[in-house]
Amino acid sequence: MKVIVVGAGPVGLLLAAELKLAGAEPVVIEKLDGPSGEPRARGIGPLSTEALTRRGLGPELAVHDKQGRADKLRDHGSANGHFASIFKIAQDVQEEPDRRANMIWQSELEKILLDYARSLDVPIRYGFELTSLKQDADGVTANGLRADYLVGCDGGRSTVRKLAGFDFPGTAPLMTVRRVAAQVSGNCRTRVGSTRARSTTATAWSPRSTSTTRNATKDRSPLRSCRPASNGLPVWMRP
Ligand SMILES: Cc1cc2nc3c(=O)[nH]c(=O)nc-3n(C[C@H](O)[C@H](O)[C@H](O)COP(=O)(O)OP(=O)(O)OC[C@H]3O[C@@H](n4cnc5c(N)ncnc54)[C@H](O)[C@@H]3O)c2cc1C
Repeated sequence: MKVIVVGAGPVGLLLAAELKLAGAEPVVIEKLDGPSGEPRARGIGPLSTEALTRRGLGPELAVHDKQGRADKLRDHGSANGHFASIFKIAQDVQEEPDRRANMIWQSELEKILLDYARSLDVPIRYGFELTSLKQDADGVTANGLRADYLVGCDGGRSTVRKLAGFDFPGTAPLMTVRRVAAQVSGNCRTRVGSTRARSTTATAWSPRSTSTTRNATKDRSPLRSCRPASNGLPVWMRP
């Protein structure tokens, strides 16, 4: 059974590997020219950690998880777990406090999953953007590529969803998030974690000592521009 998996994010890569293990012939198509490297999620939860450990990826995950467990105090500014930066989930009052999350940057996780999928001989075709999709009684055709099935793992603005005409019910967004990824130069100080002001949140993630990403929530952001980084991108600082 041939399956086209659209999107080489964490979901697409892991799904393709699982399909391969189940005896299918998956191919992953990804519009980017290579892994994005974009700093996004900072860790995976206990269930994901355990699922990946069952696939033999535990040691590779552990390399990124200092002390063998999530150091939420250091990495998130709170010993509690968080959802959308709301730190409410105290580990010691959970029913199974020994089940731990694993701190790992999403870009590092994607590298692990990419290597894993490749080790199973899953073809990953970068620079291949899905723009057309047709379905008939025998299968699907995506930009001339033929398969029995196609799975959309192409993120929140999914092209697959739109081309297939799937409904996407929900409520309108309550806020707009603007985001800057910049190489910081000079004396701009950053700390890892979130800084809240009345109408904004500034988040500094520093996967490497010279790289910082800041999120400014809401359009009324009073963040002021710091000096431009060497690549010309602005760096935003709190007043
Ligand atoms: C700034 C930021 C911070 C985040 N922090 C967290 C966090 O702390 N914890 C957490 O759990 N989650 C976090 N998330 C969310 C997390 O990143 C997503 O849930 C996750 O990336 C979803 O994975 P995915 O594989 O479904 O989709 P994606 O990672 O979005 O991957 C989709 C892939 O599909 C590709 N694609 C899209 N369209 C096409 C097309 N037409 N043809 C071919 N390829 C296509 C894209 O290039 C992309 O590589 C964060 C997200 C952002 C943006």
